[in-house]
Formats: sequence, structure tokens, C-alpha cells
Amino acid sequence: MTSIDYREFYIDGGWQQPSTAGSVPVMSPTTEEPIGSVPRASIQDIDRAVAAARRAFDDPAGWSAWHPKERAEVLERFAVELESRAAETARRVSRQNGMPIWLADQFEGTFPPVLVRYFSGLMVDAPDADVRPGMLGGSARVTRRPIGVVGAIVPWNVPQAITFLKLAPALASGCTVVLKPAEETVLDAFLMAEAAIAAGLPPGVLNVVPGGRDIGAHLVEHPDIDKVSFTGSTLAGRSIAETCGRLLRPVTLELGGKSAAILLDDVDLGASMEPLFGATLLNNGQICWLSTRVLAPRSRYGEVVDAVTALAESLTIGDPLDPATKIGPLVSARQRDRVEGYIAKGRDEGARLTTGGARPGDLDRGYFVQPTVFADLDNSATIAREEIFGPVLSIIPFSDETEALAIANDSEYGLGGTVWSSDVERATALAGRVRSGTVGVNHYVNDPVAPFGGIKNSGIGREMGPEGLHAFQQLHTVYLPPEA
Ligand code: NAD
Repeated sequence: MTSIDYREFYIDGGWQQPSTAGSVPVMSPTTEEPIGSVPRASIQDIDRAVAAARRAFDDPAGWSAWHPKERAEVLERFAVELESRAAETARRVSRQNGMPIWLADQFEGTFPPVLVRYFSGLMVDAPDADVRPGMLGGSARVTRRPIGVVGAIVPWNVPQAITFLKLAPALASGCTVVLKPAEETVLDAFLMAEAAIAAGLPPGVLNVVPGGRDIGAHLVEHPDIDKVSFTGSTLAGRSIAETCGRLLRPVTLELGGKSAAILLDDVDLGASMEPLFGATLLNNGQICWLSTRVLAPRSRYGEVVDAVTALAESLTIGDPLDPATKIGPLVSARQRDRVEGYIAKGRDEGARLTTGGARPGDLDRGYFVQPTVFADLDNSATIAREEIFGPVLSIIPFSDETEALAIANDSEYGLGGTVWSSDVERATALAGRVRSGTVGVNHYVNDPVAPFGGIKNSGIGREMGPEGLHAFQQLHTVYLPPEA
């Protein structure tokens, strides 16, 4: 396959020369060979991108001052251009991070234009102002204004969907954006920039500058950034939050997770296995909200262990570009080493490996790890407490609902979770008591209409839903005098 190489950055509405000669090489986790490269942003390139976004935002006749309908027209063109590149976007993501292609088609190809249209629509339908009769005479005119220049920093695991959780509401609300993609997944971000150019996004409204954490840290503390929106690890999120705290800069943080799937004693195991795969092992285990702790009733513990083990063993491992593949490689050798370290830790701490635990014997290259299941452990085990970010599940027994809930809630994290039962009402009642930002009943699907995000070490703030739009807006009140 031909190498995909870019020589310039998308800054200020067009392609611009980088200020230094550095480049970001992109490797395939499947073949362990190079697949392309993009220039590496320096601090000067970030400064140029932020200056362009600042100019675009501050232009009194520009993007931020346009009527939402005018922005929606441009964003519709953007959605169309994204759609025409959807298959290639999915392919690039799959080649870069090992996401199975059928999933990349949904998450990375289809979902971004859906988000663009959803948030444009919310803005078009939003009232211009909320005029409230006052209690003290007069009235109050409350409006929502775009928050300003946004620094958006995203990880490699679901790069385009996560990018658009930020871009779609930010652009719809009139913000301008400097996006820093993760180094592992940059080729999809440059294709997205091509779509932005083809759609005619005005200069400076969107800028894409790839680089590592030093570049990200510079963006976070840049004096011309008004809001930071970050998705990534809890470690990096904490450091970004410290900077934003010092600067009193608004920040949204979508961080790690260690969610629980509670299988109640009346669960229909046969019917649950397919959605349980989606809730626990999707994207090779590299999604923040996955329910990687499977909580099973003692009365059916053996049955659950057998069913989950059989599920893991049924998954086809291989080239993520093959539509039959359910489990592709992990994103990098470093990520594979990390996951293997946790598997060794699980064994050392006495958990029983029921399947997996090794690299697949028939694949001689690529960062593959077999889907792995541990049983006979409790919630204090390291593999039950820390985010592994790989295809590794722990099955923990419980005696009754009270204990199941206590185990589910006994975590530093609080992002996702699921409850599985033949009685939807019973499961929904229990879901309401799980301490996390989101919980699924008999499935887990992030719907754009509802807020998604975490509590505790999983983050601060929400994306999607009207709440995800409000995260890019600032409230403004005008006190009107009593009518004469
Ligand atoms: P990471 O935190 O190492 O990197 C994420 C991004 O932040 C990258 O672009 C990186 O270059 C940048 N970065 C790292 N340190 C930074 C710093 N100090 N200042 C500014 N930028 C910095 O995370 P990762 O390993 O790439 O991604 C995996 C993590 O992301 C997992 O912990 C996962 O749970 C989390 N995640 C969370 C969500 C969510 O919505 N809650 C979604 C996806 C992934």
C-alpha cells in the first residue's frame, strides 16, 4: 500500500508550511510497518494556529457573530464532505490503531457527520434569548454565547468520534478550535482537514496541529485559549486540570474508567452475549467506558464464567481490515506490554485464567493479545482496580444486589457500567444507584441526545446532548429596567 504523507498543516483555512523539519511517523500495529507521516508541530506552529483561531473568533463579522443558520449551512457542507470520505476515514483509523473495520465504519466514518448535524440542529432550534420576568422589578435577558477559542486534545483509541464530540458542538455554537490529535492517529485528522477545506470552513475556524504531550501542554496554557476540552488518561487529565485551575480556565475532562457489568440472577445469558461483547470487549478493549469488571451472582457463577469464556474464545482475532475480525491488535508495542504486564499481575495475585493470556500463536507480527478472562478474584485485585485498556475481563462474584452495587461503586472511576436482567424494570432501578456518569441496561450505546461523561477519576463535565453544547457556551445576563 502506498504511504500516506503530508508535508503541511491545516492552519488558518489552508495548508501551511511547518516551522521545523520534524515529522510524526505513523506505524501499523498490524504489520509493524510504517504507513505514513505528518509534520510534527513545534511551539511556533501551535502559536500560529492559536493566533488564527483567535483572529477568527474575535472578528466582529466572523464565525462567532454569524447566525446559527449561517454556520449550519457551512457545517452541512462539512458533514457532506465527511460522508464522502467516511470509508477512507474508517480505513485510516483501522490501519493506525487496529480498530476492527466494521466498528470503524460506524464510530469513525458514520458518527462524525451525525454529530455535526445534531449540534447544528440544536443551535438552529435554540431560542435567541430567555427573557425572565424579574422578582425585583424589571426582567433578565439571558443568552448563551460561544465560549471562545477552544483547545481540543484527543487520544488515539476512537480518534474521529472523540474529535467530533468536541468539534461539532464547539463549531455549531460559534467557537473556533485548535485540535491536537494523538501522535498514533494523525492521518484521519488530516483527512478531516481536507473535508474542512472542501466544505469552505472560514479561515482560522478549525486548525489541526499534531504533536506529543509537550505540544499539548503548551496549547493548554496558551494565553489565547478560552476553554480546554480533553479526552485521555487520568494522569494527563490531572496535570491539565492543575494548569487550568491555576489559570481559572474552563476545562472538560473525559478520562479513564473501570466500569462494572452487573449480571443479575435472572439474566438471559444466551441473549446477552452479543450486546455483552459490545459492552466489554469492543475496540480490542480500548474504550474508556467498557464494563471490564463482570459481576456475577454466586448462584450462577460457574455458568457466567463458562459463557464469558466461550464468548472470548469465539472472537476472531486478526487483520482489522478483514470484516470478519472481532479483535484486532492493540495500538502499539507499549500498549501490548502494558496489557501483558496486567495479565502477569492477575496471575501473580492468584486469579484463575480461564482463557487467553497470551499472544495468538498463528500471528507472527502485530501487537495482538488474546481476549483474556480471569475468574475467582475479588474487587481488591490490581486487575479489578486499574484501567488495563486491553481485552482483559475479570469476573467477580457477589451474593445479592446490595453487594453487587457496593462492588460496582467501589472504584476510583465512575464513567460507564451496565446492568443485565430479564426484568428491565428491576435492572433500571439498580442502574439508577450505580455511581457513574452513564449506565446501560442490557446493552451500552452512547446516544448523542444524552450527556456522556464521568465522575470521580473519570473526569469533569459532559459531552453530547444539549449539555455537551452548553460546555462550549458562556451564559450572559442583561438586567432590563422595569417597563415604563
Ligand atoms: P494520554 O492521556 O496519554 O493522551 C491523550 C492525548 O493527550 C494525546 O493527544 C496526548 O498527546 C495528550 N497529552 C498527554 N499528556 C498531556 C499533557 N500533560 N498536556 C496536554 N496534552 C497531553 O491518553 P492515551 O493513552 O492516548 O489514551 C487512552 C486514555 O484515554 C485511557 O485512559 C482512556 O480511558 C482515556 N479515554 C477516555 C475517554 C472518555 O471519554 N472518558 C475516551 C477515550 C479514551
